[in-house]
Amino acid sequence: MRTIKAEIITVGDELLYGQILDTNSQWMSAELDKIGVRVVRRTTVGDIAEDMLTAFKEAESRADIILITGGLGPTKDDLTKPLLAQYFNCGMEMVPEALEEVRQYFEKRGRELTELNRQQAVLPTKCTYIPNKMGTAPGMWFYENGKAWMSMPGVPYEMKALMTDYVIPMIKETFDTPVIYHKTIKTVGIGESFLADLISDWEDALPQHIKLAYLPSPGLVRMRLTAQGTDEKLLSKDVQAQIDKVWPLISKYAYGFDLETLEQHIGQRLMANQETLAIAESCSGGYVSHMITSVPGSSAYFRGSILPYHNEHKINQLKVAESTIAAHGAVSEETVSEMAARVRELFGTTYGIATSGIAGPDGGTAEKPVGTVWIAVADGTQTFAKKLMLTKDRMLNIQLTGVSVLNLLRQRLNNNLH
Ligand code: AMP
Ligand code: MG
Repeated sequence: MRTIKAEIITVGDELLYGQILDTNSQWMSAELDKIGVRVVRRTTVGDIAEDMLTAFKEAESRADIILITGGLGPTKDDLTKPLLAQYFNCGMEMVPEALEEVRQYFEKRGRELTELNRQQAVLPTKCTYIPNKMGTAPGMWFYENGKAWMSMPGVPYEMKALMTDYVIPMIKETFDTPVIYHKTIKTVGIGESFLADLISDWEDALPQHIKLAYLPSPGLVRMRLTAQGTDEKLLSKDVQAQIDKVWPLISKYAYGFDLETLEQHIGQRLMANQETLAIAESCSGGYVSHMITSVPGSSAYFRGSILPYHNEHKINQLKVAESTIAAHGAVSEETVSEMAARVRELFGTTYGIATSGIAGPDGGTAEKPVGTVWIAVADGTQTFAKKLMLTKDRMLNIQLTGVSVLNLLRQRLNNNLH
């Protein structure tokens, strides 16, 4: 099957000045990806005729589908419409249907229809008029020499409505688009390169129509499998067969699929076991509690937290032994283990988890440099602690601590801690 290629051209000085972020391209790319159209380039140009014409020409030389947003307002600085007429070598004329839409748009809002607004209904003769229910600038669809063009307003909600209601269906009708099937494996606690090493033989043996992408974020790596073909059922079966093969290699790290977050996964597991959780966090400053409570329904298993940032409160509120802190310091295996055990007792939960570390950017010593973090999970019988050597970046350290301590709890839930 031939790859259908698309290019996106966004028009507007404001995009180049950095006043507006080009969110249209990203959204359109994702929509095109869903229907198996490959976006091969995205270009942004100012409201300058010469630059726009060059962009049209170049896009036409590379792509089957050219999507343009912006430059469709009624004012003189909006050039897309006359330039498209020039590009396609045609005149412009009033489209009665379009005029009626514009007239109704203004009538509904009790506003007078000006000559400038009437001009919105004057369109290049070679285009198919596409009504814009959300605004006054119509969409324009051109089909010439086997290539489809669509010009849309820059206003994101107008563009989105036109894409959803017309452009995507018209592309599917006009081109022989493939079926794309994605499935993402969520992993935690292993870096991208280690994961790649672990599964390299499997990856090398992937069939031609299935591609793997590694998508890392702090502490987590998503493995996205993308299959392309003509039959969705078949593709999902092919992908599942590959997941079955790779799973034994990554089962220590893989916790779920697609949109499932680590905190949702933990919540599901605790709920299924009818178990409960309490948290004592120091260096993570409430971030772990935030992760846990971001999940709807977390009250079923989460009992509460204590955030004893100062040692005095680790001793007075959490009942960590003063001698432990005196002998080993707040950032130590001994202190974090006691924190986890005490918070578990304090809240009467199945598990207690704890964090204590030096988030940075200052405050490190030779023995305990910035980024040294201890995490622990206590279950009433045993306490497991782990030392992390993180970064110099405070926010990143907080995030990594959160993911790591939830991963430690996940490992305990899997009986994988010894
Ligand atoms: P226009 O159709 O060029 O008159 O654009 C109207 C408004 O839509 C602009 O003032 C921007 O606020 C917004 N806009 C235009 N292009 C984009 C884009 N690529 N991404 C996000 N917003 C945009
Ligand atoms: Mg503009």
